[in-house]
Amino acid sequence: MNEAQTACSPFNEDHQSFRQTCRRFVSEKITPRIDEWEANKGYDRSIFPEMGAMGLLGIPYPEEYGGSELDFWYSVVWMEELARCGAAGFPMSTMVHSYMASPPIERFGTQELKDRFMPQIVAGEKITALAISEPGAGSDVAGIRTTAVRDGDHYIVNGSKTFITNGTEADLLTLAVKTDPSQTHSGVSALVFETDTPGFSIGRKLEKLGCHSSDTAELAFDNCRVPVKNLLGKEGEGFYIIMDNFQQERLVGAISAVAGAELIFAKTLEYARSRKAFGKPIGHFQVQRHRFAEIATRIEAARQMAYHATRVFVSGQNAVREISMAKLFCCETGTWVADQCVQTYGGWGYMEEYPAARALRDTRLLTIGGGTSEIMREILSRMVFDGKEYLLPEEGSSTPDTSGPTVSEIFGSLPKRFRSEKAGDLQEVFRFDISGSGGGTWTVQVKEGEMHVREGAHEDPGCSVQTDVDTYVAVETGQIKPQDAFMAGRITVDNIPAMMALSGSLSRLS
Ligand SMILES: Cc1cc2nc3c(=O)[nH]c(=O)nc-3n(C[C@H](O)[C@H](O)[C@H](O)COP(=O)(O)OP(=O)(O)OC[C@H]3O[C@@H](n4cnc5c(N)ncnc54)[C@H](O)[C@@H]3O)c2cc1C
Repeated sequence: MNEAQTACSPFNEDHQSFRQTCRRFVSEKITPRIDEWEANKGYDRSIFPEMGAMGLLGIPYPEEYGGSELDFWYSVVWMEELARCGAAGFPMSTMVHSYMASPPIERFGTQELKDRFMPQIVAGEKITALAISEPGAGSDVAGIRTTAVRDGDHYIVNGSKTFITNGTEADLLTLAVKTDPSQTHSGVSALVFETDTPGFSIGRKLEKLGCHSSDTAELAFDNCRVPVKNLLGKEGEGFYIIMDNFQQERLVGAISAVAGAELIFAKTLEYARSRKAFGKPIGHFQVQRHRFAEIATRIEAARQMAYHATRVFVSGQNAVREISMAKLFCCETGTWVADQCVQTYGGWGYMEEYPAARALRDTRLLTIGGGTSEIMREILSRMVFDGKEYLLPEEGSSTPDTSGPTVSEIFGSLPKRFRSEKAGDLQEVFRFDISGSGGGTWTVQVKEGEMHVREGAHEDPGCSVQTDVDTYVAVETGQIKPQDAFMAGRITVDNIPAMMALSGSLSRLS
């Protein structure tokens, strides 16, 4: 890094010294084993407790579970350093464990579930996987068909999943199921699933184009009994939970893509300095030099986009736009850079003994996994082209009917609709900022089984909600499903578990 880069870096001295710890761990414990794991088509699971013992699996998690609860930039450092191991497969497995499969357990699980599983997850004693995709549904999450049918205090799970990272190693799955197959989004629920449950089997370990140091599997569920207490959030809230989780998953994808691009580019520059043709190093040919300038520029643009998305994400604001852009741009840059590097290596770029071939195979996944480039463009085009008018209304209705109650009347109705018996141990201050004519700011406090509503900003909120008048009225009057408004970026909530608890404690507006 030059002086200007250091001055503008988002990392402070503590982050940088953590970087040295990560770098040492990766170079001593992972890089020497990565070729073997690539050849074996999977990692040796003993590395997980080793990472756990170093505190590398608990960076974002609370100390009570053995984590260090550090800011997200420490996680960025870890992702960037892990990418230096020289393959994308094993880092993907680690990221799935810490940043994709286990966060919903920590955010939406009951205290009992968290106390039971989080310490083992953070210690690397239990490996986790995120099981959403199915043979017939990947991008279309609401189209999943694995069912969970209530039977007393258990669900009976039947169905199958495919493409599941860590599928052959996982002890725990964060599993998307349909608890109401007659519904689309609102029929989806999320469960914690223990893979020693009778009826569970690993269908097939899948052969892949790349990312060989990570296992990918098909999973089958045949009348598996899962305790109802393993539910994450409430029944029907699985789609929210998955969408909420996707933001971090996509950000991790973007950051990892840039780090991988940087590594293969550095190796390519080294090669171009030593490989000679026509009596001089190939890096001295102008066409190669200009390629390097282009690669460096695009990597820098991607890095800044990923860092910007990270800043918005850590600020707690709605980062759907920035993260979707970063996922799209960084991942497309990652595959492009690998392709360019193969070209500079020439014939050796096509050979397994040089790193460019692996980079090309590994990076091809970037624009597919965790939401394809087409889906990112779809999300962004809705925001860019459809703008604020975009809504996902109930089938059959085109624009929301706002002739119903006013925002002020709805807030006035809240204390009467509050059901303390449904609120559980909820104690929270909510701040609603409703933009547009007839909107305003309201503070809703739930304390000791009672609800107090006041206009204006009062106590510091533990949950902030931003939306506009039309959306708020349409959601409250049942014209739009809250999850659709949330997905469309029309409602921003920074503490989804609290918001879900609040919604669950209110009777319908009559
Ligand atoms: C190596 C690997 C690891 C994975 N790990 C996991 C994991 O751990 N857990 C998990 O749940 N899943 C995992 N996946 C699945 C991955 O998330 C899906 O492959 C991805 O979401 C795409 O879904 P699909 O493969 O079913 O493609 P489809 O959804 O069938 O899409 C096929 C094509 O159609 C396009 N398309 C689909 N819908 C639209 C639309 N509305 N507009 C325009 N184009 C569209 C897609 O962009 C794509 O080009 C993994 C996949 C791979 C390859």
